[in-house]
Amino acid sequence: MDLHLPTLMIMESFVTACAGAVLLLAWSQNPKISALALWGFGNIAASGGIFSLMLGSALRQPFASALGGSLLVLAPGLMWKAARAFDAKSAPLIFALLGTVVVGLANGIPGIGDVTGSLGLATGAVYLFAAAIALWLGRKERLAARWPIIAFTALHAAVLSVGTYSTLDGSTGQDVVPSVMSLFGFIHFESIIFALGTAVFILALVKERNEAASRMAAQIDPLTGIANRGAFMESAERVVERCRRDGAAVSVMMFDLDRFKAINDTHGHAIGDAVIRKFCEVTAAALRPSDVFGRIGGEEFAVVLPGSGIEAAYVRADRIRASFAENCRFVGDHQVNTTVSGGVSMSVNGEQTLSALLNYSDIALYCAKTEGRNRVKRADQPKPEGGSSTVLRVA
Ligand code: GH3
Ligand code: MG
Ligand code: MG
Repeated sequence: MDLHLPTLMIMESFVTACAGAVLLLAWSQNPKISALALWGFGNIAASGGIFSLMLGSALRQPFASALGGSLLVLAPGLMWKAARAFDAKSAPLIFALLGTVVVGLANGIPGIGDVTGSLGLATGAVYLFAAAIALWLGRKERLAARWPIIAFTALHAAVLSVGTYSTLDGSTGQDVVPSVMSLFGFIHFESIIFALGTAVFILALVKERNEAASRMAAQIDPLTGIANRGAFMESAERVVERCRRDGAAVSVMMFDLDRFKAINDTHGHAIGDAVIRKFCEVTAAALRPSDVFGRIGGEEFAVVLPGSGIEAAYVRADRIRASFAENCRFVGDHQVNTTVSGGVSMSVNGEQTLSALLNYSDIALYCAKTEGRNRVKRADQPKPEGGSSTVLRVA
């Protein structure tokens, strides 16, 4: 069965336009994701390019062929800019358009004007390899849909490289479309796969990214940017369990801001919020990356410290207390003089559960409040069997 090339190209052009339209529709619903618009317009340009080339070839219109060639260089330029935009990297529009301008100007230059087909194909290949590399450089963000987009883009770049070779060695003319049965004829099928495959996986990538952002937002306290109660409990359970398995020490700190209701009543809620944020800043600066810190109530916070005994935890909690008192004398020009009370406990012989540790720390925190606030207390816990030098009492 012979394939009718103009019919095949009309289908190619139609599928590519549909892929572009789907991306533009997604952009209208996610207007902040400019990559959707850029890749979508890239597909629309490619669709117009394929259609123009078909007309140029069927009607022997050199202008339509030249227009088609230019649009087909514009498309990968926009896709390269889209690939950079996906990972919030800048890509000046002028660089994205440069290929089209260079290929357009080359038409009038003696010598080079004879190989504009090769030049256009090579430029497209360079843009698409650059787009695949840009997407690959963003691989640290673990999104499964990134890999098929890289694969389709690199494959299309490779096919355009075959086209460059094929036009240079004369098996495809410089200003004609490749015949289906030629070395470069594969492009007619591959470009459909490229347009559809990239559109589907770009939509999947946007969905994956939106879902990851929602999951993250559900775990982060919006006022302070630290873990909320649910996320804290989940991570803290994991850390306490790991320490239990490894037989390692683990301590828990609990903090509650002192007479905080009075801060709100005297200075207003906004200043109260600023004090809460300040406490989180001071505490986060005093923690190690392995510590788990969360806001477990309005002005209540907890920290799990894997590998820390009670004395180390006490020293660090007291340092946080002192640093907060020092840093929270003023908020702007409001003299707030806020302090914090804390309680610390540790897992004895790796036996205590997270909820038991939180309970011990809470009791110690209550002691700190009743003894006058602005202090840290160690929990009065059962002593480890066989005796230990660790001091476990309310100090
Ligand atoms: P104590 O020293 O005994 O802990 O006294 P307190 O006033 O801090 O304790 P209390 O539990 O009576 O008051 C806590 C206050 O914290 C009440 C609530 O309005 C305030 N609060 C809780 N969450 C927020 C918040 O997100 N922002 C602000 N500004 N205030 C909050
Ligand atoms: Mg409280
Ligand atoms: Mg309080």
